[in-house]
Amino acid sequence: MIAINAYEGRRVAVLGLGRSGIATARALEAGGASVVCWDDGEVAREAAAAEGLELADLNRRDWGDIAALILSPGIPLTHPKPHRVVELAQAVGADVIGDIELFALTINAMPAKRRPKIIGITGTNGKSTTTALIGHILTEAGRTVHVGGNIGAAILTLDPPKPGTIYVLELSSYQIDLTFSLKCDVALLLNISPDHIDRHGSFDGYFAAKQRLFAMQETGGAAVIGVDDAQTADLFSRLRRARPTSEVTAISSGRVIAEGVYALGGDLYDSSAGQAEPVADLTRARALPGKHNAQNAAAALAVVLRLGVSARTAGEAILSFGGLAHRQEAVAEIDGVRFINDSKATNADATAMALACYDNIYWIAGGVAKGGGLDALANSFGNIRKAFLIGEAEATFAAELDGRVECERCGHLDRAVELAQQAAKRSGHEDAVVLFSPAAASFDQFANFEDRGEAFRARVAALTQNTVPVS
Ligand code: ADP
Repeated sequence: MIAINAYEGRRVAVLGLGRSGIATARALEAGGASVVCWDDGEVAREAAAAEGLELADLNRRDWGDIAALILSPGIPLTHPKPHRVVELAQAVGADVIGDIELFALTINAMPAKRRPKIIGITGTNGKSTTTALIGHILTEAGRTVHVGGNIGAAILTLDPPKPGTIYVLELSSYQIDLTFSLKCDVALLLNISPDHIDRHGSFDGYFAAKQRLFAMQETGGAAVIGVDDAQTADLFSRLRRARPTSEVTAISSGRVIAEGVYALGGDLYDSSAGQAEPVADLTRARALPGKHNAQNAAAALAVVLRLGVSARTAGEAILSFGGLAHRQEAVAEIDGVRFINDSKATNADATAMALACYDNIYWIAGGVAKGGGLDALANSFGNIRKAFLIGEAEATFAAELDGRVECERCGHLDRAVELAQQAAKRSGHEDAVVLFSPAAASFDQFANFEDRGEAFRARVAALTQNTVPVS
């Protein structure tokens, strides 16, 4: 645990008692703050009470004595409208921040020479994969690494900072909204496309949140930016004008970058020293299929090169990366049909990446549809032999696909897996794939995308005793 001294001797409120909220309360207490907690949900409150934390309804409490509100990133700060507790905190001039900011304040209070290095990773898609990949490469390179933030462990549960260690942090736009002093040694923006507009008010608001990761950096901090989207390419040009050229690196999947890192034709190149040097044959990186993962690999390479890892070590580590669960994860092969769990694909952009990777797809999709429809998938409709639809989005997806992709409405995932398997097997295609890439959120039928992915895995495992696990 990282003890937080920034509010020693003062009263701090914590709103939102999920895993990170409880860890935050503990870390503040360990640093000498007096903490009062709340969650609008009873189950979360009970869990906190069982941990011995002090609870009080922050919606009603007098705020006069409170120095800061530590907000869980899932709770609205500005849009669609601020949570009432946020307004109460702002009315008394309390700081309204998140756990990443508490971490940043703690690091900034250390003598410069003793500070660990911080890598911040953001973007619309690919954050978790890239964060895990960077963690893997650095570990293989013999560095001491702590990976956390929006992925895996809540940040304040990580080991305390020591000189020479590296924190690799996945940061969502909600987390960045609650962070003001994080000075990343390397900040990475992978890509941007419309997402979470409800929480940021507009696309510009969402992009502005992502850009703040760079605005917070100190002189000498490095920026790595994916330039495959118009907006991020523009940000790259602006940062290149504002900072020394060598501190701003472009990465791409699909086009040649001078003095940067790029993936093209299945190979990964480092051109940061002027000449393009091949670093890895990505077709051999089993856990990183597709053009989108090539973007993640390019970004990870650019970041670790900044930290002094050799291209050779990085290239080898990229090939040995095991991948993350629920992201185009090969879960089984049954009678020649491969089953891919891409439950994490909660929007059409993410699903488009997976659909582009296979030729004969029996596609299971649906859940709670997000805005924007399925247009992002149109280029890959030719790869889909049939779609099996589930959940709340069934009717809208069926209407959108009508006349373009053969569809069947299945209601629930179990039925969809069964029908997709039968159709794939009947097809006789050698490379048939049952791809579960929902292009929708999970909340209508599952607790979250992990729960949904586990349900897919369990159903696939139950299909036959002859399941051959794919490692
Ligand atoms: P995040 O943490 O940003 O949500 P993940 O690494 O968990 O991203 O990947 C989520 C999904 O997004 C994956 O299942 C994949 O389909 C898609 N994806 C991964 N990397 C990229 C990328 N660089 N560009 C677009 N889509 C991606």
